[in-house]
Amino acid sequence: MLVPWRFIRTWTCFACGRCCKKYVVPLSNEEAERLMRKYGKFVVEKIGRRYFIRKINGRCIFLKNGLCMIQEDKPKACKLWPFIFLRKPRKSFEAKYAYIEYKNEEFYVYVDTFCQGINQGTTPIDLAVLEAIRIYLGENIRQQYTTSPFSQTRKSSILIPYISKANFRTIVVRELI
Ligand code: SF4
Repeated sequence: MLVPWRFIRTWTCFACGRCCKKYVVPLSNEEAERLMRKYGKFVVEKIGRRYFIRKINGRCIFLKNGLCMIQEDKPKACKLWPFIFLRKPRKSFEAKYAYIEYKNEEFYVYVDTFCQGINQGTTPIDLAVLEAIRIYLGENIRQQYTTSPFSQTRKSSILIPYISKANFRTIVVRELI
């Protein structure tokens, strides 16, 4: 269910990983090429003409212990979730609760209540929404309020299966952070 952002007080990602299991993440062509170049072709799946992050056993290939292992390389869809941006309100009575203006542009922002982080933690919702708008518009900023605080402090290695000619194997690709 989507609710207008002004109905919510705080939001913090607790790295439960539920969204990384439930959803299939769409990629732009540029994102797909970038991820394949850096992590191997296997991390991306092509369905029809569209690209998606591969899931293994029902979860994103980049999910490890509830955390995303490619923070700086995350596709836009992952950076923005659970915030949904519309140019018009879904229902007229929701308009004043979903409305926000940034650099003279109007947005109607909703939050997907499937997320466990709603009204949790201490990050005021307006800080998270403002950061999400800047990401949505393509501003080159580092995620601070729209990602899990755990992901910014924890050092971990990333394990990515990739296809060799004959079979899969798992390699340590790189250290993060
Ligand atoms: S965005 Fe929400 S559902 Fe996804 S990992 Fe964070 S708290 Fe869980």
